[in-house]
Amino acid sequence: MSTCRLLHGVAEAAQSLTDRKIIAIPTETVYGLACRADDDDAMRKVFAAKARPSDHPLILHVAPEMNIEGWALFSDSALTLANEFWPGPLTILVARGALTSDVVTGGRDTVAVRMPSHVLAQEVIRTIGIPVVAPSANSFGHVSPTCAQHVIDDLGNVIDGVLDGGPCDIGVESTIVDCTTSPPQVLRVGAVSRADIERVLNTPMAEVDGKVRAPGMLASHYSPNCSMHLATSRVEAETLAVSLRKNHRNVAIIDHVDNITEYARCLYSDMRSAAAAGADDIIAVLPTGEGLAEAIRDRLSRAAA
Ligand code: AMP
Ligand code: MG
Repeated sequence: MSTCRLLHGVAEAAQSLTDRKIIAIPTETVYGLACRADDDDAMRKVFAAKARPSDHPLILHVAPEMNIEGWALFSDSALTLANEFWPGPLTILVARGALTSDVVTGGRDTVAVRMPSHVLAQEVIRTIGIPVVAPSANSFGHVSPTCAQHVIDDLGNVIDGVLDGGPCDIGVESTIVDCTTSPPQVLRVGAVSRADIERVLNTPMAEVDGKVRAPGMLASHYSPNCSMHLATSRVEAETLAVSLRKNHRNVAIIDHVDNITEYARCLYSDMRSAAAAGADDIIAVLPTGEGLAEAIRDRLSRAAA
């Protein structure tokens, strides 16, 4: 039984946050499970609702014209990237300000910040007047939600509400760039490509160093509830499907390589619908190219791991 209310608009969503509730809000990337970034108890509820380990830090979501000086300290490269790509699907890792809680950063001296372009997300944040945290509104390790129903399917009985903003425009999580190193490093690829960042900063990105820096970088993540296989072409996918079906497996193929924007937008909902329709196996055709195509390959390879 779902205890999750459908919220009627920005005012009700903002009031819920002020009442220390945890609610899902739409962003242009995926739905986030939001609460106020100054509310440690609510943030602990967010970790618990997602079953997310507490050492996986949260992203501060901020609104245009908000003064975030006390929360985060921007280096020159961070400012350049924010000026170019915000609002939008780029998360920037910077030095932490005194207002940012240990619950957000997991005790680190850095904090991740993003300014979403989604109008509803912006209005909710602007109404409460301080940053919110908003990790993807799914249970830890599962695929991210790209519509309100996905949130309800995953977390409907453990969160207080969801603000329905329709399907997400982009469909995969933000790019994360660490601006605390010189040169910066791309920790996760999303709709903003490595090449976009290198062009704007006019420098090649550093190689990411070995240790797991971000939960999105875990080898196994973004998994549906069935076996994922990767194919490099449609023909390879069809051939594999034939052999799996001989063993009476129920097989679904995901392939939007002709339209990468569409591929990103549909990826997680296709994975969810195939699993819900009883697929034993999903075969996804890997797109080629940079930017969103790289993001899709990254998520698919983690889903298959
Ligand atoms: P999600 O909100 O589920 O997309 O995940 C948040 C992402 O931002 C994760 O990959 C985090 O590890 C990353 N992140 C947030 N804060 C930090 C930080 N201080 N250092 C490294 N990664 C961070
Ligand atoms: Mg996530």
